[in-house]
Amino acid sequence: MKTYANTVDGRAVVSDRTFESRNPATGEVLGLVPHSTPEQVAQAVATAKAAQPAWAARPDAERKALMMKVAEAIKANAETLATWVTREQGKPLGGVGPDQVPGARFEAWGCEVWTQVPASLDLPVDLAFEDETRRDEVHRKPYGVIAAIAPWNWPLLIAIWQIVPSLRAGNTVVIKPSEYTSIGTLEMVRLIAEVLPPGVLNTVSGPGEVGARLVEDPRVDKIMFTGSGATGAKIAAAAAKNLTPTTMELGGNDAAIVLPDADPKAIAMGLFWGAFLNMGQTCACAKRLYVPDSLHDAVVAELKGLAEAMPMGDGMQDGTVMGPIQNRMQFDKVSRLVERARADGATIVCGGRPADGPGNFYPLTIVTGIDDGAPLVDEEQFGPVLPVIRYRDVDDAVARANRLDVGLGASVWSTDLQRAREVASRIQAGTVWINQHGMIHPMVPFGGTKGSGWGVEFGVDGLKAVTQPQVISIKK
Ligand code: NAD
Repeated sequence: MKTYANTVDGRAVVSDRTFESRNPATGEVLGLVPHSTPEQVAQAVATAKAAQPAWAARPDAERKALMMKVAEAIKANAETLATWVTREQGKPLGGVGPDQVPGARFEAWGCEVWTQVPASLDLPVDLAFEDETRRDEVHRKPYGVIAAIAPWNWPLLIAIWQIVPSLRAGNTVVIKPSEYTSIGTLEMVRLIAEVLPPGVLNTVSGPGEVGARLVEDPRVDKIMFTGSGATGAKIAAAAAKNLTPTTMELGGNDAAIVLPDADPKAIAMGLFWGAFLNMGQTCACAKRLYVPDSLHDAVVAELKGLAEAMPMGDGMQDGTVMGPIQNRMQFDKVSRLVERARADGATIVCGGRPADGPGNFYPLTIVTGIDDGAPLVDEEQFGPVLPVIRYRDVDDAVARANRLDVGLGASVWSTDLQRAREVASRIQAGTVWINQHGMIHPMVPFGGTKGSGWGVEFGVDGLKAVTQPQVISIKK
């Protein structure tokens, strides 16, 4: 069985202790992953610290050009990377383009694009104030060493979101992938680190305790975390000890509100992918669908038709549209929440019974006859289930959307854009999409409100988030 390696200072690093990475579609062990020791974590941070001044001192154009080389390396290895994503995370290979299934090839392509865009952005000096007595300029400086902690749902893409803006701005990075999906990320870093100076991009691997070691290291200058709120709270507590700044991209429980003028047929496909992209294992998937009484049956019928038509299976096989749930913990959580809804009298319109076999296959599930307060509605189930909740009055739907303590994304569906905008502005979420859901873009800032976190990624604002302002104030 092959043991995959971390990259530290441009070299492969293994550990005496390892753990298995498994294919969620088959149960097959894909390889062994090093469980980084505390000394190895400290060494990775020391390496990043030592490499940072020279990296930051390079002309901006050089870092830009190197990031473009990173994008080329991703493109050249896209099929290998996509295959790792499918085998380790589970999403089908799929393709790239509007008529293709958004799966692992889409994730690999996204890595290329989310590298090119920050590489092409600039942070020019801002003139904050000038008169005959003084001139005040705002320059952007890198933090230093960024510690990045990634989840398992989009293991390559989220790592790229953390790595690329950080490097582009002159920081060096130590990243820890999720213990469920480490190999793909370690392999991607190995490939892209080949075009970078040694030490600027490093990895450690292992479970939460390895992440905890990394974020508590006082030489870390900023933490970028994407994962659950519960882990975010632990990391925020660790960060408080050293006053380390953080960006927190945490869980959500996105509401989608269909307005009474919407056309169920026209919105069905957008709603479907908004809820079931990556088997619902996406932070900004629609997780609660609010539908007016007048449209309830038509919307449910459209979604049921789509859900039942999507082939589910091993993502390496042609024609697969839906893969497995990535891990057993998540699978059990989804099963528990659906069983509880059933026991409480909800209607399971389709799905709702896990498949037998070694893979973590759970059918796409639509639940009606359920209300706010039910665990399936109130908890982030992070799986292929959509509860549909009736409403009578739009103000009431908005109040229901806002009643939870998370606010990552949300959406409003309507043919009346003016009305949709007005409703959108009253929803407490980092992004409210109109007639689409979860449609992130590398130029558009993305982040949560309330318990979904703080700080943003993407675009110029995302680049600013990995830098700190320095004012140069000149007396005239
Ligand atoms: P998780 O919080 O269980 O784990 C995330 C990462 O944190 C893993 O690498 C894990 O090893 C590490 N970790 C665990 N304990 C730690 C500790 N004490 N210190 C440091 N690191 C530690 O989350 P998950 O199950 O991997 O991911 C799913 C969650 O991520 C969902 O809640 C989802 O909504 C959220 N998410 C949010 C976004 C966003 O942009 N807001 C994007 C994707 C996923």
